[in-house]
Amino acid sequence: MTLDRSWFTEAVDATGSAFSLKAEKVHEERTPFQSIEIWKTETFGYLMTIDGCTMVTTRDNFLYHEMMSHPALNSHPNPRNVVVVGGGDCGTLREVLKHPEVESATQVEIDERVTRLSEQYFPELCDKNNDPRATLFFGDGIQWMKDAPEGSIDLIIIDSTDPVGPAEGLFGKRFYLDCIRALRADGMLVQQSESPLLHQDLITEMHQAMRDAGFAQTHLLHFPQPIYPSGWWSGSIACKQAGALAERLDPAALDALDTQYYNAEIHRGAFALPNFMRRALKA
Ligand code: SAM
Repeated sequence: MTLDRSWFTEAVDATGSAFSLKAEKVHEERTPFQSIEIWKTETFGYLMTIDGCTMVTTRDNFLYHEMMSHPALNSHPNPRNVVVVGGGDCGTLREVLKHPEVESATQVEIDERVTRLSEQYFPELCDKNNDPRATLFFGDGIQWMKDAPEGSIDLIIIDSTDPVGPAEGLFGKRFYLDCIRALRADGMLVQQSESPLLHQDLITEMHQAMRDAGFAQTHLLHFPQPIYPSGWWSGSIACKQAGALAERLDPAALDALDTQYYNAEIHRGAFALPNFMRRALKA
């Protein structure tokens, strides 16, 4: 493929590092919430950015979407009602709906334009949007969670942007209190929690806030994600009830998920903590 000799670059001042893809911009718009750009890259397919930060590419999104959904779903004893907060590209919703035990999956995305652009540029991520179990709701996840009926959700997946702008309120005790109220007694939450290498302070603050809100225990899982700062990303799981996580890793059920990255060994390995994170989380 021959493209203009232009590059997309996301530079992180705090770490003096940057990630670039050879690409040409094919769309840009300012919504009431944020700036969205679509780039056609030379080797990663399409790239969506929000406020200059990489969100999703055709080539590597499977890593993030599989790891934000399957480890938590297979750690919950019986996830029937699932809510995705954010996640407007629909990739997490798609993975959630691969689980036959899920009876309803609601995606609560503040910015409808993210989803409409994904339907156009990432149609493969949206191929389960018409599943009868799926609901696409466009509105603020913070308010949605406040209004959610008590004890109505098994798993909340927070697939948000970084903790600035509209996503800031999704990281913190006040929001976690609303999540706890909306979850059933054995309910769980999983939230994208940035890079273990670059954002240890944020991760430890998140785990503390989850426990302060009343979650009985928290776990970190980690996975590669080439387009995000440092190339290494994480999710944090918070459980209402103490006790070992379920391990629903039946080989036939795992095969049926038709994943590219996730399997039983990856599931177990993802929860293994490097020593520096063990120390940071006092685990
Ligand atoms: N995988 C990405 C990452 O970690 O950078 C996140 C992708 S997803 C596109 C993030 C979505 O969260 C965005 O579409 C954004 O509009 C949405 N979002 C941010 N704040 C939100 C809020 N308060 N309620 C609902 N959705 C929100």
